[in-house]
Amino acid sequence: MEHLALYRKYRPTTFEEVVGQEHITKALAHQIASGKLAHAYLFTGSRGIGKTSVARILAKAVNCLDNQNGSPCGKCASCLRLEKEADINVIEIDAASNNRVDDVRELREKVKFLPINAKYKVYIIDEVHMLTDNAFNALLKTLEEPPSHVIFILATTEVHKLPATILSRCIRFDFRLLSIENLTKILSNVLTSEGIKYEKEALKMIAQSGEGSVRDTLSIADCVVAYCDGEITKDDVIKVLGTTDYDLLIEYFDFLKDKNIGGMLSFVQELDQKGKNLAVFVKDLAKHARDLLICQTTKDPNNILNLPSEVYDKYMIQAKSIDENRLLDFMQVFVSAENELRYTLSPRLLLESLSIDAMLGHDSKKN
Ligand SMILES: [Zn+2]
Repeated sequence: MEHLALYRKYRPTTFEEVVGQEHITKALAHQIASGKLAHAYLFTGSRGIGKTSVARILAKAVNCLDNQNGSPCGKCASCLRLEKEADINVIEIDAASNNRVDDVRELREKVKFLPINAKYKVYIIDEVHMLTDNAFNALLKTLEEPPSHVIFILATTEVHKLPATILSRCIRFDFRLLSIENLTKILSNVLTSEGIKYEKEALKMIAQSGEGSVRDTLSIADCVVAYCDGEITKDDVIKVLGTTDYDLLIEYFDFLKDKNIGGMLSFVQELDQKGKNLAVFVKDLAKHARDLLICQTTKDPNNILNLPSEVYDKYMIQAKSIDENRLLDFMQVFVSAENELRYTLSPRLLLESLSIDAMLGHDSKKN
């Protein structure tokens, strides 16, 4: 059987199924249900957070013969046609590869033809910011006087690249990055449907690595599923992602705090021997310093950190044991090394010297 990526397999098919974009889906469902549609929509936001999925749901809903509170029914002739991807009334254009003025002119010619067996013809133009200036001008002419049977849905990750003239013709919806809570919810639904068992903490780690994107989160899940045997464990996720175990970070920061150079050196040697990616480790160290600062300075730290509770307790203990200025030093040292690490031939030596800088940093500045 051909393996279908989880992100594709579990695309939402109704507005209600879209997680984390309720401010948009509710408004769109309401427009469909009340029949008050616009002729041009603009969907903006990062990659992999639902713009195309919502565009497809909207395209389906406008022609659905029996919409359910604004969502497509999935059963009528129009919905079924779209599911077979044989519907000529919905046209998806990737502006990244069709960005020339001729492409848009061709589109303008076709826009004139009426939809077939349906009320609307829907054009979804993805990555619309990739259009050339001339192509934008051509598109603008269509947006200025759109035929009543046409709806445009423009999607972009880089809205600042769109000319104001285009922006002013569209109803704009800004898609948000998803919270870790929502990503965890999606993951657990998907894995349960797939019949895959998992440790809760493993799920949280995957969600955290997705950085707000559903697509990235599910792609990581794809990799972890392919790697693990049966149940998804925290260790599987660590191995696939190359992320660092919380305990390692805590142990390492204790060496830094205590200025224990010997302990630090043998720790690094061990990491290196285990084949650990030291560049990733340095990134994680910078983040750990930041996380401890959050523990020290904010009211409800775990609201931001989203750590498993037993890990959070350890973080709080460590945060109390290190002076704020020293944490700032640690963070500065590790953040500023990111570029250097990419090019160094000896990451281990660099990590060791960074760590010594971090240990001595504040003292040496004072002197
Ligand atoms: Zn339908």
